[in-house]
Amino acid sequence: MTNSPRKVEQIVEPDFVIEGADVLLRRSFGPSRANPFDPFLLFDHFAFNDPIEGPITGFPTHPHRGIETVTYMLEGNVRHRDSLGNIGVIGPGDVQWMTSGGGILHEELPKRGPSGQVKGFQLWVNLPAAQKMSPPRYQEVDSASIPTIEKNGVKVRVVAGKYDGVVGPVTEIAAKPLYMDVTLEPASEFYLSVPEGHSTVAYLFEGEGFFGEGDDGGGEKVKEVHMVIFGQGDHVRVQAASNSHARFVLIAGAPFQEAIVPYGPFVMNTEEEIKQALADLRDGTFVQR
Ligand code: FE
Repeated sequence: MTNSPRKVEQIVEPDFVIEGADVLLRRSFGPSRANPFDPFLLFDHFAFNDPIEGPITGFPTHPHRGIETVTYMLEGNVRHRDSLGNIGVIGPGDVQWMTSGGGILHEELPKRGPSGQVKGFQLWVNLPAAQKMSPPRYQEVDSASIPTIEKNGVKVRVVAGKYDGVVGPVTEIAAKPLYMDVTLEPASEFYLSVPEGHSTVAYLFEGEGFFGEGDDGGGEKVKEVHMVIFGQGDHVRVQAASNSHARFVLIAGAPFQEAIVPYGPFVMNTEEEIKQALADLRDGTFVQR
């Protein structure tokens, strides 16, 4: 154990936004030049596709350049197709970690699960300048291949990073990410070392808990549904409330500390590079293989 606990720095109330073709979602943050959560650019939570909202059209073919998109599903699925020739279904508990590199075109079509809902998350992770034009890469991990550790009322699915000696299946990502789905039984406690200097957030989507450690040693009370931004330190602690479970995704990564220029589905380092992306799309030279 170490002695530099992370405190809660900010609690974000997600905004409701409509993206793609009529997908209603909760956005905790989106790409901006200020880049406050470097290396993370965007975090979306889709959980609102009740039947009353009508058919889900999804995200018809669109480009990405300069980023990674990470889709983690809880319920329902997303059918996808891309310019690398990948076709598949991201089902409940599966993860797709897509590195657009210099250019990919893909479509993402959500489909309801048995309860009529689509639930899941999409995270955008930045790429460093030196890798923005790299070849696209695609990692898909099915639910059964994501290690799950259950101990003392704490259940952790490790997508990326290391928990209790277990390393997640998504590797070789520039941002050196941690990505974990954590479920705590009432009053149980989660502890994780997170490298000093890495941006660290937790998205609480079920229940309530106490996050971080304040000066009195106690955490800050947070209820679903909120994005918790941690300050600096070398570990995080979260305790579920005594009368409620808590479920959250914990995400951390190493900032690149480079200027960024976001433009829709592209995130580059200069305006010239954005103009180039648009020119490449127009000229049919966008897609990298
Ligand atoms: Fe996309």
